[in-house]
Amino acid sequence: MLRLLCLLLLLTACAKDDVHETRFIMGTLVEFTISGAKEAQAQKAIRLAAAEMQRIEDVFSIYGARENSVKRFNRSPVNTPLLLDDEVSRLLQISLDIQRASAGAFDPALGSLNLLWGFSHDPPADHPPSSDAIREARPPADCLHRAGKYWIRTDARCQLDFGAIAKGYAIDRGIALLKREGIHNAIINAGGDIRVIGNHQGKPWRIGLRHPRQPGGVLGSIEIRGDASVVTSGDYERFFIYKSKRYHHILNPETGRPARRSQSATVIAPSATIADAWSTALFVLGAQGLTYAETRQMPALIVDADGQTRMNAGMRKIFRAP
Ligand code: AMP
Ligand code: MG
Repeated sequence: MLRLLCLLLLLTACAKDDVHETRFIMGTLVEFTISGAKEAQAQKAIRLAAAEMQRIEDVFSIYGARENSVKRFNRSPVNTPLLLDDEVSRLLQISLDIQRASAGAFDPALGSLNLLWGFSHDPPADHPPSSDAIREARPPADCLHRAGKYWIRTDARCQLDFGAIAKGYAIDRGIALLKREGIHNAIINAGGDIRVIGNHQGKPWRIGLRHPRQPGGVLGSIEIRGDASVVTSGDYERFFIYKSKRYHHILNPETGRPARRSQSATVIAPSATIADAWSTALFVLGAQGLTYAETRQMPALIVDADGQTRMNAGMRKIFRAP
């Protein structure tokens, strides 16, 4: 059973004395694996980390009935300064910096467009919206402005959505909680978005990179020791097929439609927040984005629209074919 679980996890380095727990948070199965700690200590640390990740979902989510500062902002009158939670404000500033650095590929203001496409609705959408509806939901560029502590949106179509970065941030907060509880060796895997700390019984953690078109298959693996994050964005996560064409949840801000240059994009960075945002940006940019990652010392890999795997030099050094 453990072997099977480890295979499912794509973590080839699972072992008997690991403490392993799975929770459902942020619409995905989050797997905690802790190595080299007492069971009771590990269980408590996981409980606290999971609660913190759930708290972050509540603070950032634009779905469900629970009120938060993001939803309030998205309903606020345009050109009116509004306060966001400090935490939201910080993540928004990081998002805008990455938007600029990625030539607009990453866009935290696509809330109304994402709601229109409905990939995260229950039940999820099964056909694309009309061109008119897309035009009416697509926000103009630079529609978010900071005024000291306050934020302003200049257009009603401009609505925050942290779907491409909040999961990474939650993983970072989860790891921070584990560390605070004295855990030195662990993995948090939130549906393929991963951060590791320490090692696995003296060996590096081994992480399989999922094949975007072969369920259960891997492109290859990487070994990581220390503190690092590996995040993948893929067109297989939330999608529907309509008239033989795949429509998925990562949108090209220029067209307001699913980005077409990639099947998946993987980025390695010190923090899961940064790796999460950049994996989405790289997915939109396609193979040309690999140099963006290289200049920022982030190993990165893209499976392009034709199914070709492309890597930058940083990734080539650590990638192992299956
Ligand atoms: P990820 O799975 O991390 O790539 O994030 C995808 C989610 O981020 C989607 O479900 C949307 O909520 C949101 N999103 C879609 N396209 C973009 C984009 N170009 N930039 C930022 N967020 C996006
Ligand atoms: Mg992302």
